[in-house]
Amino acid sequence: MSGRTAIVTGGASGIGGAISRRLATDGNLVAILDINRAAAESAADEIVQAGGKAIGLGVDVTDRAQIESGIEAVRAELGRPTILVNCAGATLACGFLDITRDAWQAALAVNLTSAFDCCQVVIPDMVAEGWGRIVNISSSSVHSGSAGLGAYVTSKSGVVGLTKVLALEFGKHGITVNSIPPGFIDTPMLRKTVDAGMVDVDTQIGRTPVGRIGQPEDVAATTAFLVGDEAGYITGQLIGVNGGRNT
Ligand code: NAD
Repeated sequence: MSGRTAIVTGGASGIGGAISRRLATDGNLVAILDINRAAAESAADEIVQAGGKAIGLGVDVTDRAQIESGIEAVRAELGRPTILVNCAGATLACGFLDITRDAWQAALAVNLTSAFDCCQVVIPDMVAEGWGRIVNISSSSVHSGSAGLGAYVTSKSGVVGLTKVLALEFGKHGITVNSIPPGFIDTPMLRKTVDAGMVDVDTQIGRTPVGRIGQPEDVAATTAFLVGDEAGYITGQLIGVNGGRNT
């Protein structure tokens, strides 16, 4: 039981939800920051009912002021955060020539600038503690590209660059920074693309070497490892969780 304070953005649903539950099970104090305040509170309640410690806060990670006040509340209620999982994200499916500048900026804001802001606000806490763990959730599409997802893939690729730079700048402070690019994980986000007829689950399972769809808990288990003491010599890395779809 580590008793560290962990922040999970987008922690009210899907992959972020599973990461929040897992980090709490491992003994961390978990702050769920999500634009959906009711869902964040309910996810935190679920953790508390199960015997863990968690709080849920309504924070839009595209708004720096909300991030700063949310993280200040985390410091006051749970103590200095030394684990940060940037998981909030959203897709934008659109052919390249039809992407408006507003939509492009919105995709960068939620998928990339949010990680920049959260890291910049939390890293001083980690430096002060001489220990920190950051996991940035990117996407398996950064390996391969994905037609029709130009803004999404570009923003997630930026997350990989940010991960590498932070790993180099802050390794000397005991802080590791890694990225998990997940692929084909069964979450509400994926189910929306299934319902829209963009993804066929059986076809995709056929293209997945391990022969199944990924579960949010698969990503949570990898995150739990990366934020632990034993992973202290792993930094600046992309650790794919994709059933072998990208190698
Ligand atoms: P999800 O839709 O189930 O969860 C996303 C969460 O992010 C939601 O709780 C949502 O409210 C929150 N969120 C969205 N915008 C926000 C904002 N502005 N501020 C704060 N919170 C916000 O989706 P998921 O599939 O669990 O995705 C989690 C992450 O994993 C995303 O970054 C996504 O891009 C990435 N990802 C998922 C898959 C997959 O197969 N599911 C594949 C590759 C990458």
